[in-house]
Amino acid sequence: MTDTVDCVVIGAGVVGLAVARACAQQGWETVLVEAENAIGTGTSSRNSEVIHAGIYYPQGSLKARLCVQGKHKLYAYCEEKGVEYSRCGKFIVATQEGQLDALRAIRAAAAANGVDDLRWLERDEARAMEPALNCVAALESPSTGIVDSHGLMLALQGDFEAAGGMLAFCSPVTGALARPGQPTLLKVGGDEPMELLATRVVNSAGLYAQQVAACIEGVPAHSIPPVRYAKGNYYSLTGAAPFSRLIYPVPEEGGLGVHLTIDLGRQARFGPDVEWIDTIDYTVDPGRAAKFYEAIRTYWPALPDDALQPGYAGIRPKLAEGGHGGDFVIQDAREHDVCGLVNLYGIESPGLTASLAIADEVIERLNMK
Ligand SMILES: Cc1cc2nc3c(=O)[nH]c(=O)nc-3n(C[C@H](O)[C@H](O)[C@H](O)COP(=O)(O)OP(=O)(O)OC[C@H]3O[C@@H](n4cnc5c(N)ncnc54)[C@H](O)[C@@H]3O)c2cc1C
Repeated sequence: MTDTVDCVVIGAGVVGLAVARACAQQGWETVLVEAENAIGTGTSSRNSEVIHAGIYYPQGSLKARLCVQGKHKLYAYCEEKGVEYSRCGKFIVATQEGQLDALRAIRAAAAANGVDDLRWLERDEARAMEPALNCVAALESPSTGIVDSHGLMLALQGDFEAAGGMLAFCSPVTGALARPGQPTLLKVGGDEPMELLATRVVNSAGLYAQQVAACIEGVPAHSIPPVRYAKGNYYSLTGAAPFSRLIYPVPEEGGLGVHLTIDLGRQARFGPDVEWIDTIDYTVDPGRAAKFYEAIRTYWPALPDDALQPGYAGIRPKLAEGGHGGDFVIQDAREHDVCGLVNLYGIESPGLTASLAIADEVIERLNMK
């Protein structure tokens, strides 16, 4: 049997949930299909849970705009829904004189993105606030925070269902047919295979977005940007967190450097690093510890031996090639010719922060004539 609905969202990570909520709140009959048996089992539960300020991204990029918009929306949403968060702030630290220019460039990039609350701290001022810190200077970002990502996803799911949305678990999209001027026919596998006919489809399948797009007959192959996976490994710290704010070094190629984040239970973890991989595998290799000790001791020299334990890993869907400059890619019919389809590619960090703003952007694209 084929059910006809207004909208199908593929993937119940934080972005798919935010998009599905927004679609249902438009009054569209919306089905959210998820391959796994729970929400948020992918990248959305394998990240740093940081509410990013919008500091690093190139001016005019989707990441810059959606991160800054998303941050404001997310703080307001957490407040309204009682999702746990903390506006704990963060330091970006230069540990050598040679990094001061990079720190100044970060401050300029942030200002260009409308993030004008960064404060330059000389060494003594920074150390008065964080006594365990080694640095020559630091930037303080007061609008950076942390959030209970699972609490956030549950709140989004609650809104979605309250607006009449239907969530189908163990329901992987396995194929689809898009025909000009007609709704898209989606084949959904799993325990209870079904077919759905939808006028609007949003592909929010995270690491698998390219695979899902490729299985939609009618989507031109050249419109699908190649993906490379960059694994980020975390190590957790035994014992009390040495800092009260998040501590970031100056960024490195492919990531933000091995930084310290604190969860809402005040447990510290370090990472993620950058490991290029070909197949999805979340195992953390204990052999990477030496590099973590070395990186962390540049800003926290007192890190004791044997204090780090392998933690967890997440994987970034990087769009390194294809001229996207590492930005999010949100594609509508103008790029792939399939009316009513939006593909979300490369939704790596700051996708959690930007989730509510991405959802608004998707609605705008779906409402475009
Ligand atoms: C190491 C790391 C650290 C990060 N830290 C931060 C941070 O601190 N702050 C921040 O803002 N962002 C951070 N991010 C980014 C953020 O976590 C992601 O942008 C966000 O979680 C992506 O959500 P998503 O819904 O797009 O993807 P996912 O959470 O991966 O969800 C995709 C879903 O689609 C489902 N799916 C896949 N294929 C199919 C199919 N065929 N049919 C149906 N369902 C399917 C999957 O099962 C999955 O549930 C980090 C990312 C990484 C990797």
